[in-house]
Amino acid sequence: MPLTLTVHRGTQQIGGTCIEIAHPQGDRIILDAGRPLDAPDGATGLLPVSLDRSLPATVLISHPHQDHWGLVEDLPAAWPIWTGSGSAKLIAVTGDVMRRPLARTFETWNSRSGPFAVGPFTVTPILTDHSAFDAYMLLVEGAGKRLLYTGDFRRHGRKSALVDRMMADPPADIDVLLTEGTNLGSDKPVKSESELESDFVELFGRTCGRVFVAWSGQNIDRTVTIYRAAKRTGRTLVIDLYTADVLDRVSVGTRLPCAGFPNLKVVVTSGLRNNYKNQGREDFIERMVPNGISAKRLEGSRHVIMLRRGLIRDYQRAGVVPTADDAFNFSMWRGYLSEPYHSEALEWCRAAGAEVAYIHTSGHASPADLRSFAAALRPKSVVPVHGVKWDEESDGFGVVRRLADAETLTIP
Ligand SMILES: [Zn+2]
Ligand SMILES: [Zn+2]
Repeated sequence: MPLTLTVHRGTQQIGGTCIEIAHPQGDRIILDAGRPLDAPDGATGLLPVSLDRSLPATVLISHPHQDHWGLVEDLPAAWPIWTGSGSAKLIAVTGDVMRRPLARTFETWNSRSGPFAVGPFTVTPILTDHSAFDAYMLLVEGAGKRLLYTGDFRRHGRKSALVDRMMADPPADIDVLLTEGTNLGSDKPVKSESELESDFVELFGRTCGRVFVAWSGQNIDRTVTIYRAAKRTGRTLVIDLYTADVLDRVSVGTRLPCAGFPNLKVVVTSGLRNNYKNQGREDFIERMVPNGISAKRLEGSRHVIMLRRGLIRDYQRAGVVPTADDAFNFSMWRGYLSEPYHSEALEWCRAAGAEVAYIHTSGHASPADLRSFAAALRPKSVVPVHGVKWDEESDGFGVVRRLADAETLTIP
């Protein structure tokens, strides 16, 4: 009896990923339980209907982006859920700050864990490069077959060496490569995080006032890039309580910047202060205060200041208003600017005459890197997920098994 593979969701879209690998003995592994990116806020009942919840399964979450873990609360309580230890912390911080603490707990692996058994399967988490911290590829072996799921990855971030190393010495005899294809069909340039650092240095250097930057507090690669550029130009990076919380949780035992580092301050705004009080985390606020800066002091030319919609009102109240001497940089996917949540910060700065810049690079591999990766891995077949251009762009990937959502593939 062979192994079977079912992509419950993700063959025709980016995000919402949910993949099942079933062993002939009946054991099942579910790779990711992602919330579709286009699901309306508050929508429920989003697990794919084809996912049988009446039978046991073990769930592996590749990385802490909601399009990969956002439905974990809907999974049967008896199903164990595994993820990386850093990933578990970042998933928890999201629940805490949204005041919906996660009811589920995770079993965790880390980058040094090596292979572990899940029933008759052997799972090997392989730390990779992505805009999410603690992202893994997952090698799943069972019934004599080997499947590699890339999760989301790139080859131009601060951990690109991990992907290079894997390509130079790939796991042998991969039967199926389940690969993401987010950037297929786009020719947008992908810059490395170190190139971005130089671009930020240039922007910080030529701006006579403050530089406001919008980025995701969970994109730790980007926090590091912006922090390094601030330091190189003699500026101080000002992060909000949430970003300080993210760094506080994951920086232990690493060289990642966190509160207490030079050229790094935490702005304690009333909105987030109340949020953390309501979480019962006054102790965290107290710990941040010695490294804090009052919003009232964010004037002059020394600061690089985190900005997003939720901070505008608190800044305004403290008299922090952009001027024509300042600059604004949007350091996220440009498509988000169609949402008021993201565009408001940009418009607030533009209206004041501040320079608007766009220094950003994708969290996902370029089409060329996707093809090189597949070529290096030499799988018997490639199953496309997490993309919308696979039908047009599957050349250069070897033998492609294009599945529909919920279609089951028998791995011979
Ligand atoms: Zn994703
Ligand atoms: Zn991701």
